[in-house]
Amino acid sequence: MTGQRKQIVILGGGSGGVVAATKLARALGDRHDVILVDRRPEHVFMPGFLFLLVGQREPEQIMRRLRRLERHGVKILQDEVLGIDAARQEVALVGHKVHYDYLIVALGFDTRPDMIPGYAEGAHHAWELDAAMRARRALDEFDGGRVVVGVPLGPYRCPPAPYETQWMLDGYFKRRGMRDRVTIEYFTREAEPAGEARDPVVWMDAESRRRGIKQHYEFVVQSIDAERKTVNGLYGYKLAYDLLFMIPPHRPARALIDSGLADTETGIRVDYDTLATKWDNVYAIGDCADMPASKAGVVAHQEADVVAHNLTAEITGRGEPTPLRLHTI
Ligand SMILES: Cc1cc2nc3c(=O)[nH]c(=O)nc-3n(C[C@H](O)[C@H](O)[C@H](O)COP(=O)(O)OP(=O)(O)OC[C@H]3O[C@@H](n4cnc5c(N)ncnc54)[C@H](O)[C@@H]3O)c2cc1C
Repeated sequence: MTGQRKQIVILGGGSGGVVAATKLARALGDRHDVILVDRRPEHVFMPGFLFLLVGQREPEQIMRRLRRLERHGVKILQDEVLGIDAARQEVALVGHKVHYDYLIVALGFDTRPDMIPGYAEGAHHAWELDAAMRARRALDEFDGGRVVVGVPLGPYRCPPAPYETQWMLDGYFKRRGMRDRVTIEYFTREAEPAGEARDPVVWMDAESRRRGIKQHYEFVVQSIDAERKTVNGLYGYKLAYDLLFMIPPHRPARALIDSGLADTETGIRVDYDTLATKWDNVYAIGDCADMPASKAGVVAHQEADVVAHNLTAEITGRGEPTPLRLHTI
């Protein structure tokens, strides 16, 4: 295994992909090739989206050109990943294919507003860059009324972020001097949290109530009626709104479903210790990996560390492999 030149291909230049590529390129030097593929020329730091929403950041402040990683020895390919052929150890891009000896899949999650009827006409969100800027314009034009924030069924990026959204909107309306003309409400499919205040969800619920934000639990969205301005839930429940921010449903990237690699709605099945997939020499990290953990950058980062460390040990023959031990809530 050692001695031969290896090509390590990383799909996705988000939180997980950037960490994996940088660590591998630094550790392997110019004796091996580390290639990072992303459809975008920039890394986009998604936790910044909520700050974009309330006008506290501009897009260029939360983006960095991926080519900056070339100084560490990472080769950047700006291209669309169309599929993976595990038998040939190849990734299909637009018009050409790239061979891999090792593949790290870090394609994140796709947002799928199309899965909720009426979403496109009736709702805003800040879970993608363009959508966050459209939501910001709608917020700037808003003159008062009923603001509703909510989450769909299924997994989505960063479970605590819908709570942060409520609090940031509360602060935004206070700064504009119009908080008394706005009611904020939140809905979620989850049951009402109970128990000790040390439980994060109990604490977050209390923080929202302290800000006068009404919480609706066990509300499962079925559709949005943009004309009547209602969110329609299971069993006939309805919530009226003037401005709706709803986190869209998320699903694994189309290319991963079509290739047969992602077989659950929460992503690619992986070994919890090593992030290895059912395919030889293919690993999945970050939001696209089906792990019993939040879809969060902090998780993607730790998974990238472990996979980069273990591949370095395997390729160079130096060091011992280590299992993933996640530190997160
Ligand atoms: C509003 C918001 C707030 C958040 N706050 C936090 C926080 O406070 N703390 C935290 O830890 N996490 C937070 N997160 C979650 C965090 O951003 C994600 O969990 C993290 O980015 C996942 O990293 P990833 O590498 O798995 O995927 P991503 O960062 O999503 O990267 C995936 C990359 O793959 C590329 N890609 C996808 N499909 C293709 C394709 N077919 N071809 C080519 N390229 C493709 C994309 O362009 C993207 O660059 C937040 C997310 C949001 C939306």
